[in-house]
Amino acid sequence: MIPEASYDLIVVGAGPAGSTAALYAARGGASVLLLDKKREIGNPIQCAGFLPDASEVKALLPDADLPEALIIYPDSCMLQTIKTQRIIPPNCNVKEFAVKGAVLDRRRYDQFLAEQAAGAGAELMIKTRVTKVEGTTVETSGIFGKHKIKAKAVIGADGPNSLVAKSKGLAMKPELKETSVAIEYQVRNVDIDPDALEMYFGKDYVPGGYAWIFPEGGDRANVGIGIRNGMAEKGVSAKEYLHRFMKDHPMASSKLKNSVIMNVIAGIIPVNGAPAKTATEDSLIVGDAAGHIIATNGGGIPPAMIAGKIAGETAAEFAAGKCKLEEYDRRWRAQFGSALETSVQARQIMDGIMKSDALMNAAFKFISPEQMKVMQCGKLPGPVKLGLQALSRGKK
Ligand SMILES: Cc1cc2nc3c(=O)[nH]c(=O)nc-3n(C[C@H](O)[C@H](O)[C@H](O)COP(=O)(O)OP(=O)(O)OC[C@H]3O[C@@H](n4cnc5c(N)ncnc54)[C@H](O)[C@@H]3O)c2cc1C
Repeated sequence: MIPEASYDLIVVGAGPAGSTAALYAARGGASVLLLDKKREIGNPIQCAGFLPDASEVKALLPDADLPEALIIYPDSCMLQTIKTQRIIPPNCNVKEFAVKGAVLDRRRYDQFLAEQAAGAGAELMIKTRVTKVEGTTVETSGIFGKHKIKAKAVIGADGPNSLVAKSKGLAMKPELKETSVAIEYQVRNVDIDPDALEMYFGKDYVPGGYAWIFPEGGDRANVGIGIRNGMAEKGVSAKEYLHRFMKDHPMASSKLKNSVIMNVIAGIIPVNGAPAKTATEDSLIVGDAAGHIIATNGGGIPPAMIAGKIAGETAAEFAAGKCKLEEYDRRWRAQFGSALETSVQARQIMDGIMKSDALMNAAFKFISPEQMKVMQCGKLPGPVKLGLQALSRGKK
């Protein structure tokens, strides 16, 4: 395909943030070019695929205006429905609560989102990498050749190492950047509860993060860990921690002992919240590029899509001369900015607790399953905050 010389909007990255932004911008009447460097949308995946039901998202982010595809999507995008979430502290005193959601086939879901955007009129170019962003001119290179394309505005939905954010001065300062390194395997031959998510904590297996086993239907599962390098033992890689978890964890290893690895997935998860500014007069960043991730659980699909809708709608208004693009920053913060900040605070408090298994066991003992549910989704109930701070102080 040969792109036009110019568009109202160029969206870099066709993940959940970019495709949602492209959809709502095209619906708003803007001409949109959506680009992705992948040869197939959604492949390779970089996700464990858990998507909470819209009712759960709404309960946690009551001011958010959910895009349709967070509420309803084809059954073919779903691998497994989820009814329970289980939290396993270092001493294995399990707590669980009810949760509604699904483990997605992220490849299919991302393709569904991109198809929706294309259906609304956005032009889609895959296997096309954006190599340079200068002003609002984007240089691309890929299967359809090299191009220089102009736009009224550029939307950076290009993930945690966003080129658009760097080029437009919107990237988080390196000293403020905090990331979780994640590695996961899609495995078969696992003996698991088919509709329960399991999350494991403990500094010897997952320093500064958690390990998970997410069912993917039948005997399949996604097994992974997200750890923080600064909290890990020197010289021990994320992959080694994952192998240790699969082989030695007192509760998980028996479920995983006969597992066969079918796919390896790795990625990084920004857990520092958003930079101070996410828009300029002619660009904006959204999704992982903007740190739109609930820092306590690494859940990034819902915030990426909520912000994607706001980005697309605002950019279409901007292209029509109806508002400034910076309005986007104010709008997404009004819908879920405080929840994002609270999740970062909760993560920071938990960082202190996670340095010691004894503290973690004590914390998991006093936090009720209901509070745990609220907390791991980014909120910090007052009594829990006080209790955790007291525990942290006690350690010194
Ligand atoms: C291992 C792992 C497990 C996770 N599990 C979950 C989970 O269970 N649930 C959940 O909600 N979240 C999870 N997340 C987080 C979630 O995957 C992200 O938050 C989500 O994908 C963010 O969407 P996005 O559109 O912002 O970015 P992405 O999905 O990363 O999409 C960015 C797109 O930009 C493209 N791109 C990048 N640079 C360029 C360029 N220069 N030119 C062209 N294209 C470019 C990429 O190819 C990519 O397709 C997980 C993350 C990891 C790493």
